[in-house]
Amino acid sequence: MPNHMWMREDHNAFAATVKRFFDEEITPNKDAWTEAGVIPKSLWKKAGTLGILGATFPEAHGGLGLSRHFDAVTFLEQTKAGDSGWGVSVHNIAAHYITAFGTEEQKARWLPDLASGDKIAAIAMTEPGTGSDLQAVKTTALRDGNEYLINGAKTFITNGATADLIVLVAKTDPTAKGRGVSLIVVETEGLEGFAVGRRLKKMGMKRNDTAELSFTDVRVPLTNLIGTEEGQGFVQLMQQLPWERLILGYMALGASQCALEHTLTYVKERKAFGQRVMDFQNTRFKLAECATKIELLAAFCDQCLAELDAGQLTAEKAAMAKWWGTQTQCEIVDECLQLHGGYGYMSEYPISELYTDARVQKIYGGTNEIMKEVIARSLDLD
Ligand SMILES: Cc1cc2nc3c(=O)[nH]c(=O)nc-3n(C[C@H](O)[C@H](O)[C@H](O)COP(=O)(O)OP(=O)(O)OC[C@H]3O[C@@H](n4cnc5c(N)ncnc54)[C@H](O)[C@@H]3O)c2cc1C
Repeated sequence: MPNHMWMREDHNAFAATVKRFFDEEITPNKDAWTEAGVIPKSLWKKAGTLGILGATFPEAHGGLGLSRHFDAVTFLEQTKAGDSGWGVSVHNIAAHYITAFGTEEQKARWLPDLASGDKIAAIAMTEPGTGSDLQAVKTTALRDGNEYLINGAKTFITNGATADLIVLVAKTDPTAKGRGVSLIVVETEGLEGFAVGRRLKKMGMKRNDTAELSFTDVRVPLTNLIGTEEGQGFVQLMQQLPWERLILGYMALGASQCALEHTLTYVKERKAFGQRVMDFQNTRFKLAECATKIELLAAFCDQCLAELDAGQLTAEKAAMAKWWGTQTQCEIVDECLQLHGGYGYMSEYPISELYTDARVQKIYGGTNEIMKEVIARSLDLD
């Protein structure tokens, strides 16, 4: 399994803490929470206590002030443990709009509760009528005295039904395209005009709370605009997207490792034609291919992480990590499920959940087709 050269003693210690958290707190509860379609708020508090939520937030605002590598550790450990249902990555992504672009007052106001797990965050971009084309969002946030008046609808929102704080993508100038977009924090508790619609039923990621949201004459203070200038939302999104896409690359990596490990165990136990499934040359070659792809994905993600650290990660390289990583994950889980035979299709075998959870990775965070557009635009095609 991959050797991440950047992992030092402190990363390994943090990884051990996070692994224990997943083994003790999530793995034994997976079935019950899958049935419930949601993960309880108490889990967030436990994660907060261990520093998992605020690892990379500033120390002055409840975090540990660590580098992004520590978040990469969390997402790797989560997926290596076979979970993608807990919306911790989305919580982290939403919070990083505040750490990156928020004023000191906003950081002090919101980050401590997000680090402790007292509050859960979501980011709401997608609307019923628009997903890939973010500039076309219809939700509006129009100035009215000291407040924004918000109207619109969002869909497919991870942590949507449980979120206390939503980073909302809305048009503060509906006449402009990208330049009219702003990011506004909506605190949901007791908020008039805000409603959670359907909790969406999905083919995979069943523990994950994915919901529709509606905003009807919702009022929030002007001071909830992230940053100080309206119309910066699109630029802010573009700046954060490389990291968000790299997160999906790391999650693809962890899930692929998990699939390979389960499959190695299975093929050693299962017999056909008087021998272990492991002993067929086809099985050994398929596993060798999966292991190779995992190493390549790890090397590429680590290269992107080093470039991110140096402020050099381009949108196109992050897009490569996202599309190739998630495509590779889907290929790996498919091969691994095939090696389980019919048992792989049964819910009681972890590979079945890994298979259904994987599919959405090619869709959210920007579809893989959009990733290829981003890459193609960076090439000299004229
Ligand atoms: C489980 C889940 C969780 C999600 N969580 C969140 C969340 O927390 N917050 C949030 O805001 N959103 C979330 N999403 C939404 C997700 O980001 C969108 O589904 C995604 O961006 C695609 O948008 P769409 O579904 O509207 O598809 P569309 O944009 O309608 O695309 C449909 C098809 O057309 C293709 N297409 C579109 N434009 C182009 C183009 N220019 N060139 C080539 N092909 C194109 C797409 O690749 C796709 O194949 C989530 C989605 C799911 C399924």
